[in-house]
Amino acid sequence: MYPAPFDYHAPSSVDDALRLLADHGEDAKLLAGGHSLLPILKLRFARPAHLIDIRRLPGLAGIRQEGDAVVIGAMTTHRAVEFSSLLKQVLPILTDAAAQIGDPLVRNAGTIGGSLAHADPAADFPAVMLALGAELRTVSPRGGRAIPADDFFIGLMTSALTADEILTEVRVPLLRGRAGTAYEKVPHPASRFALVGVGAAVTLDDGGAVASARVAITGVGDHAARSPAAERALVGQAPDDAAIERAAAAAAEGVDPRADLQGGVEYKRNLTRVIARRAIARAVERARG
Ligand SMILES: Cc1cc2nc3c(=O)[nH]c(=O)nc-3n(C[C@H](O)[C@H](O)[C@H](O)COP(=O)(O)OP(=O)(O)OC[C@H]3O[C@@H](n4cnc5c(N)ncnc54)[C@H](O)[C@@H]3O)c2cc1C
Repeated sequence: MYPAPFDYHAPSSVDDALRLLADHGEDAKLLAGGHSLLPILKLRFARPAHLIDIRRLPGLAGIRQEGDAVVIGAMTTHRAVEFSSLLKQVLPILTDAAAQIGDPLVRNAGTIGGSLAHADPAADFPAVMLALGAELRTVSPRGGRAIPADDFFIGLMTSALTADEILTEVRVPLLRGRAGTAYEKVPHPASRFALVGVGAAVTLDDGGAVASARVAITGVGDHAARSPAAERALVGQAPDDAAIERAAAAAAEGVDPRADLQGGVEYKRNLTRVIARRAIARAVERARG
């Protein structure tokens, strides 16, 4: 099926894009990589009268270190994240996740901003941003906002973004000291979206115990979410196999998966336990260096 007719706009600045969004309100949609939006338009689940193509806007793509944070522009492609030597070195959870998104076509066109704005319940980057305590930066006619990842994903395909807002970049704080991050997933056999995906970020104290932990899960709820129980189970513990297993079990206990063609509730809960264990163990291994 073809999309319903729309007017195409190609603004050359963020201000122009904001003006177009303000003029057309709920009738407009931003177009980034198009790999989530175009299928929806073709299925006519959405019929925006105006498409605002933000692929040519200057300054929205790129990965750079700024002080104690890494900043990733919203229009940065999954592929650019996957092959970033900076990210591989300081935040390998991001390259782990990007490398597992879809296939090369999807990774070449899809953008990190598009993925986060779309807030698909089985997307990979939302769990990564939650595990990293990232901040999502936006602009709108009312000015700029910095939205903590914890407040960004609020429901099924629903984020904290308003219709007149553009996500411009994500700021990821660098972890200090002995820190490790990792992302593991079981992909859907056809789409490669996460049946279950888990992001983990841990820091260790001088004695080797867990000083801080963030664990976030995607694929088994209506939006990606942290697992406070898994995090509590890790902090203060020596991260041996038994402690990691207890945290993974706590993560699995906290999810509320839906049975579907890919598996039943208990299967998905067990998958969550296995994947959480792998992600936490890998993050700990990286923290130990
Ligand atoms: C076959 C296939 C397999 C896939 N597999 C995976 C997978 O394994 N894991 C995964 O996580 N994803 C997967 N995806 C989704 C893919 O990662 C998409 O690229 C991504 O979800 C959307 O990014 P995009 O740049 O294509 O955004 P678009 O499709 O252009 O936009 C998506 C939505 O976000 C809005 N938007 C885009 N950019 C902004 C912005 N800067 N500010 C505000 N709103 C914005 C758009 O208006 C639209 O509503 C897959 C997609 C396909 C087609």
